Amino acid sequence: MFDKSSMKRQMVSIWTKGLSFFLSVSISMSGCIFLQKEKTAAAAKRIVVTIDPGHGGSEKGAYVKYKGRLVCEKNLNLKIARYMKKELESYKNVTVYLTRSDDRNVTLEGRVQIAKNHGSNLLFSIHNNAGGPSSSYRDGACALISSGQYHKELSTVAATIGKVALERISSSVGMVNRGYLKRLSASQKYPNGKTADYYAIVRGGTTAGFASMIIEHGFVDNKKDLKKLVKSSVQKKLGVADARAVANYYGLAKKNGRIRFKRLGSDIKMVTRHWMLKDGRYYFVTKKEKLLTGWKSIGGWRHHFEANGAATKGFHKIGSEYYSFDDHGKVFRGWKKIKKKWYFFRKNGKALRNCTTVIRGKKYRFAKNGKCLNP
Ligand SMILES: [Zn+2]
Repeated sequence: MFDKSSMKRQMVSIWTKGLSFFLSVSISMSGCIFLQKEKTAAAAKRIVVTIDPGHGGSEKGAYVKYKGRLVCEKNLNLKIARYMKKELESYKNVTVYLTRSDDRNVTLEGRVQIAKNHGSNLLFSIHNNAGGPSSSYRDGACALISSGQYHKELSTVAATIGKVALERISSSVGMVNRGYLKRLSASQKYPNGKTADYYAIVRGGTTAGFASMIIEHGFVDNKKDLKKLVKSSVQKKLGVADARAVANYYGLAKKNGRIRFKRLGSDIKMVTRHWMLKDGRYYFVTKKEKLLTGWKSIGGWRHHFEANGAATKGFHKIGSEYYSFDDHGKVFRGWKKIKKKWYFFRKNGKALRNCTTVIRGKKYRFAKNGKCLNP
């Protein structure tokens, strides 16, 4: 937000280390796959999130010259928004929209209307800051949220998401956590007669009945912040921080992650640190509590897992090649008799087929389906 008239901005609160208790609880919860199930059960309802990359088109937002080129807030906002969308879409039960996906002008009312048209639960606006003449600080990230004059519960939603987002932004890229700001309009009123919020995005969303917030990720006119903001790796981390804060609030589960444990049920048995047994099938659980799928190398051996994470076992055709797997999905190497026919599996697990090869001094012929024709 490039806001020259931020004379009456008031710092309502700066989050400090009081958050550490909350964080340690959520970390220990996610550290246990069984407790995680309870968390995901609450997220059955589909959530709609509209991400709003601030400014665009002729509205550059805050801008500054850096290493001979112009760095515009509108472009930084769009990049962070795209990363946020991508990350958020890796979760289940959420639909994500952007108010703009390219460099164009959209009015503030138009952005709120887009979120409204999509039936959004949340409008999440992405900005970067620039110091006004009376700013109380010149660096760091902050969240602009509703003061709670109207639909108080929506202010709580934004405060909870903002708190986690800022904490993650601070821990992942080192921006100073400036807490949240609540700013009231000088003249506008909410339908209940109370003074409305100052920022059009916050006020518009609150009036329409959904949570609406702005995150200022850093200051483009602060050298320390700018050096970070221009990096793609930092933009990605910021987008991911935002997305995870939203996912955390709504209790969303990763599409390819922990939700699978829920699907597998409670009668799973951990055989080793990584191998899990369920209904006679083995699954490999990574440190991040994900299940491996597809081809993976474990201890120097090729393993194959089905889409649901179960280790492929027995004789299988994958693509155009034939393989034989043990119960852990590990490929077999060498000679093997399967259904009274002999096969020879190479080091990479692929059966020799449609060829004539010399193995230990003897010439063998193999059919197209891998069967040895002269065992
Ligand atoms: Zn802005």
